[in-house]
Amino acid sequence: MWAKTVDFLNDIKEQVLITSHLLPDGDALGSMFAVKEILKCYGIESILVNESHIPNRFKFLNNKDKIYKPHELACKFKKAIILDCGDIDRIGRSRSLLVEDALILNIDHHATNTYFGQLNIVNEGAAATCQLIFEWINFSPKVEWSQSLATMVYTGLVTDTGGFRHRTTTGLVLRQAAKLIDIGVNPAEIAMLAMDKVSEAQLKLLCLSLSSMERYDEGRITALTITKNMWQASKAEEGDEEGLVSYARNVEGSLVGVLFWERAGLVKISLRSFGQLNVGAFANDLGGGGHLNAAGCTFLNQSLEQVKELVLRKLYPFVRDR
Ligand code: 5GP
Ligand code: MN
Repeated sequence: MWAKTVDFLNDIKEQVLITSHLLPDGDALGSMFAVKEILKCYGIESILVNESHIPNRFKFLNNKDKIYKPHELACKFKKAIILDCGDIDRIGRSRSLLVEDALILNIDHHATNTYFGQLNIVNEGAAATCQLIFEWINFSPKVEWSQSLATMVYTGLVTDTGGFRHRTTTGLVLRQAAKLIDIGVNPAEIAMLAMDKVSEAQLKLLCLSLSSMERYDEGRITALTITKNMWQASKAEEGDEEGLVSYARNVEGSLVGVLFWERAGLVKISLRSFGQLNVGAFANDLGGGGHLNAAGCTFLNQSLEQVKELVLRKLYPFVRDR
């Protein structure tokens, strides 16, 4: 599978664009920084781009390579590596930086992936895109593991598996994580920085949002909401909602947890489930995507009330027909 990347890398003369999905998480950012390191080993220049705010808790990943916003760049790119995206719309405005016939290397682990690249390395069995990046590094003789590279890859593994707790936590994931720890990754520090540590604003947002809890269909569906007022009152920023939806899924009797949040011009939902209840397929039907037990969807030009009404109406038969 990785042999195909050799031609892609061989032909490169100009800067390559590296990007991932909007509202990037630990897997998106860990894989972006790690791929930049891989390209450096091949003597290939690259530039990291993402339209969204980069959450402060991921600052530890890299303090030298800047992530640009698309509007900060005037040039267009002929080659791009797109990471952790089920479809190309997930990169948002970064797409405007690509020439019409840009060559795209798509590396991802979403079952809903649309194979939008010329070269697609997609494995829905992988727990994280960083699992695939781990393989790429091992395949590449020019790339040497370092503590910082191992930390980038480990962060994707640990965050996308919810701290090695989700059903995606295979023996292979743990063997890869073990190797990364042997290289010098500090698991306690990364768990603290990337997952556990909260800002005061984040805690206030959690508090406000938890008080919005609503239960439907005898508790099978649990909903939390973040209104515009809650963002303002808590002074929280995008990314601070991470992990909140798990409370809705984890409450006793709940089969699916849903978080509705509104921001200027859009409403986003996050969905979490257990077992075979496929929220990825549910989100896909609504124009979003994700995985078996974690998925999301973004609605433009609709009010929070409209989105709630639509999603809840569809969730009732979904949890009943399981
Ligand atoms: P989260 O709820 O943590 O934002 O995302 C959970 C999963 O759903 C991730 O795999 C993410 O890629 C996917 N996802 C979240 N929001 C969207 C969305 O708006 N569109 C699509 N296609 N996938 C999403
Ligand atoms: Mn991922």
